[in-house]
Amino acid sequence: MTERGTYLSTKNRSQCTGCEACVQICAPGAISMQTDSEGFRYPVIDKAKCVECGRCVERCPSGEMELFYQNEQHCFGGYSNDIEVLQKSTSGGAFSEIVKSWCDENYVVFGAVQNEQLVVEHTYITDIADLDILRRSKYSQSRIGTAFCDCKRFLDEGKKVLFSGTPCQIAGLKAYLGGKEYPRLLTIDVVCEGVPSPKYMQSYMTYLEEKHKSKIVSLDYRDKDTDRWDFEVMSVLFENGKTYKIDRWFNPFWDIWLNHIMSRPSCYECLYTSTNRVSDITIGDLWGVHIFCPDLYNDNRGSSLMLCNTEKGLAVLNNAKERMTMRELELDTVRNYSAPMRKRIPYNEHREEFMNDIDTMPFIALKKKWYRKPSIKLLISKYVYGSNRQKVNRYLRKQKRSNKKG
Ligand SMILES: Cc1cc2nc3c(=O)[nH]c(=O)nc-3n(C[C@H](O)[C@H](O)[C@H](O)COP(=O)(O)OP(=O)(O)OC[C@H]3O[C@@H](n4cnc5c(N)ncnc54)[C@H](O)[C@@H]3O)c2cc1C
Repeated sequence: MTERGTYLSTKNRSQCTGCEACVQICAPGAISMQTDSEGFRYPVIDKAKCVECGRCVERCPSGEMELFYQNEQHCFGGYSNDIEVLQKSTSGGAFSEIVKSWCDENYVVFGAVQNEQLVVEHTYITDIADLDILRRSKYSQSRIGTAFCDCKRFLDEGKKVLFSGTPCQIAGLKAYLGGKEYPRLLTIDVVCEGVPSPKYMQSYMTYLEEKHKSKIVSLDYRDKDTDRWDFEVMSVLFENGKTYKIDRWFNPFWDIWLNHIMSRPSCYECLYTSTNRVSDITIGDLWGVHIFCPDLYNDNRGSSLMLCNTEKGLAVLNNAKERMTMRELELDTVRNYSAPMRKRIPYNEHREEFMNDIDTMPFIALKKKWYRKPSIKLLISKYVYGSNRQKVNRYLRKQKRSNKKG
């Protein structure tokens, strides 16, 4: 038993990230994931099957296993030169370009997909031609299923594996692998601000289906067709062929989630909210790009943050450079604009009340009570005068003029 204890011994929900390492390490299959009243999934032990080997507690990433890298880090900002990749990616398409760099032959790529029931789950592909299913952030916790077992099997078979996920999922994989380093494994984690209550998402989707009188076929949390990366446009496709798009400031998903009122309990106690990382490469949005490196703003088509935490990660990214517009940046500057690399999300004191309301209120009432309308000042700055795009364009024009004079 570790000093800190793990969820399976303490039953403290903030200690369980839901990575499912314990489920997969349990040889007798005594552990399964069950959904709690907030919609989050937790491991439950079937005492009749448990042989008390203790491996579930030993391999829990919330225990004391050392999973962080301690190497010199290199931080980059930039974007893919392939316009199609950019449009299909959440940020600057770093994920796709890293995949292309790593996967030459006999490879497997793991990542999160949205299935037909719109449930997010981990899966793998063995052909880069299928990469599109892994692209795009699904802002909902993915179910790991048997991904760690599958990953180990492929590594044991000598395959090259790329495994991507949230930091807590990568920590789960590394704990599952017993902390052993595999030269043919490349891990990528996304900068993460937590995962929302699946129950709320379900309630929102049911509301949208009723309002639009059609079933949702797919949901893109951040549609890039619009070239409005920093507007975080959600796009919902319905069975009747209609598409509904909504900008971040009017969207009750973005507003309520970013108020930190419905995150998984472990997200408030997250162990990965610093520049200490568990993966070879960390990727995220290059927020603040319009302020500290406007040349990488990419006319609002998206820009990526790429943090190499190991030599392996750096070598792979160096390989991707030829297909990207990118340059090295100061990690301290990037971190200043990336809250999840600096601090944990604050606990919202109304969380319990909100969670109760999901159960008792129709969505429309829930929205009325909890969604905070944007101020007129904010809307003017986004839609009329003062947007990031306008600021960057002004900067670039000024630079062009001074270059001409010089
Ligand atoms: C839940 C969540 C929260 C995030 N919060 C932040 C944040 O606060 N700040 C920030 O800078 N970036 C955040 N990101 C990362 C960001 O949204 C992009 O995923 C990242 O910048 C990669 O974009 P890309 O253009 O390189 O490629 P994309 O093709 O868009 O990236 C897809 C990658 O994301 C992974 N992925 C998608 N959905 C999930 C999921 N549900 N669980 C695990 N992995 C998933 C895929 O496996 C793939 O590796 C978050 C991502 C997720 C999934």
